Amino acid sequence: TDNPLLASSRQPEDADAALRPKTLAEFVGQAAAKGNLKVFIDSARSRREAMDHVLFFGPPGLGKTTLAQIVARELGVGFRATSGPVIAKAGDLAALLTNLEHGDVLFIDEIHRLNPVVEEVLYPAMEDRALDLIIGEGPSARSVRIDLPPFTLIGATTRQGLLQTPLRDRFGIPVRLNFYTVPELEHVVTRGAGLLGIGIDKPGATEIARRARGTPRVAGRLLRRVRDFAHVAGSDTITLAIADDSLTRLEVDRLGLDAQDRRYLMMIADIYRGGPVGVETLAAGLSEPRDTIEEVIEPYLIQMGLVARTARGRCLNDAGWRHLGISPPTGTQS
Ligand code: ADP
Repeated sequence: TDNPLLASSRQPEDADAALRPKTLAEFVGQAAAKGNLKVFIDSARSRREAMDHVLFFGPPGLGKTTLAQIVARELGVGFRATSGPVIAKAGDLAALLTNLEHGDVLFIDEIHRLNPVVEEVLYPAMEDRALDLIIGEGPSARSVRIDLPPFTLIGATTRQGLLQTPLRDRFGIPVRLNFYTVPELEHVVTRGAGLLGIGIDKPGATEIARRARGTPRVAGRLLRRVRDFAHVAGSDTITLAIADDSLTRLEVDRLGLDAQDRRYLMMIADIYRGGPVGVETLAAGLSEPRDTIEEVIEPYLIQMGLVARTARGRCLNDAGWRHLGISPPTGTQS
């Protein structure tokens, strides 16, 4: 479609499309989320009603967009995608909503970044399936209510807490996505290799899975890079040696941390003697937006137990010092 409002917010990840699972059965991991979605999908289908609104939350690259597409496909309805920052005016959202067909899924990525004026339009749309439009200006202005077809809104955000309570409360089905386990990512990698037409042995797949930051998008990206190295080396199979060598050259370490992660850890270790240090200070020091630190870098480092978020700021844990291979300055607690 040519509608700029429907343009995806993630052009650089175009390559993702090839690896995207198309059905719930193909979607690896997230057992709890899949189990629940299946019940709601089946029930909506059998009642021939639109499914309740869904909110997916969790770090980037865990499959929120993919799941939204799968839900629409399994419901047998149309899928429209847009993103919070792209919808500038209330009228833009109204146009999207009035173009929906019965039962369609409207996916709004980064829904926490909707402009508050636009968000107001969403409330009656979600709750009463209606649009309240103001016609005219000044004393002659009046409000008209337009009924919308039943539809399912699927919102995606990195953290549930980023949403205003009134918006959050309007989602009947909140679904949290978690980091993937190594065996799950191994499955993602093996499946991806098949789709890309390259061989991979089990140790090779395990190695990529271990170094993929718990994230299928990262697993896919690493797999494509390792495949390139394998090609250049004249090998049609990714082995442990090829995977390890390529990932090391790509500066992805044994835990899967990249240069940006290590810069973050080093800053806490080196400049703030292990912390505590505030996130704003880190953001300034690293020249990264605070959002990137909190939504992209930290969740995995916290999950791995390398850093802790405390009331006084970020602290490096023992495991963090060990990973960096340096010892904490004497006289600091950790
Ligand atoms: P998000 O919307 O959470 O940022 P996406 O849905 O865009 O993440 O997923 C990024 C990529 O990761 C997808 O294109 C797909 O290739 C892959 N992916 C995500 N989840 C899975 C999964 N469960 N199984 C296999 N591949 C997945």
